[in-house]
Amino acid sequence: MTGTSVRRIKKAIAQLPVPDPWDRRRFVESVAEMRGRPITLLPVGMRGGLASPCGLWLVREHDDVIIYEDATSEYHMDQIVCHEIGHMVLGHDRTQSSDTRVTSDPMFRSVFPDIDPLTVRTVLGRSDYGNALEREAEMFATMVMVSGGREQRDQNFRNVLFKRQ
Ligand SMILES: [Zn+2]
Repeated sequence: MTGTSVRRIKKAIAQLPVPDPWDRRRFVESVAEMRGRPITLLPVGMRGGLASPCGLWLVREHDDVIIYEDATSEYHMDQIVCHEIGHMVLGHDRTQSSDTRVTSDPMFRSVFPDIDPLTVRTVLGRSDYGNALEREAEMFATMVMVSGGREQRDQNFRNVLFKRQ
């Protein structure tokens, strides 16, 4: 992780209203408002094995869908959702070409009957990003959660990230 990308991530987070105390839904709603595109959070459980540790981001014409595993801890769900928000806010989709292999799979239709595959423009998951972008998204998630008071116990880490310049 270069100093430049850490600064870029900090700058992006500084422009976001991170709820304190932390509230995942409120955070996602305010990011959606800022982007002018609704974001739907879609939990997948363990079914189908579609959700990677990275989650999946479905880009549609007028909105975004984040698919995340909910058969895990609140902490891990926050981490997955913030990670995907990181990809969005940091513009990681800009280098991606359209890929709808996931949503055109018949299994997708059975697991997510509410999502019409024809409305999905592209699907972004862990394998679609380079390692550098994955690290950026992961760093973004960690920093959002710390800044939102999600990890108040780790005050020292918070100080290092946000107080000392
Ligand atoms: Zn990712």
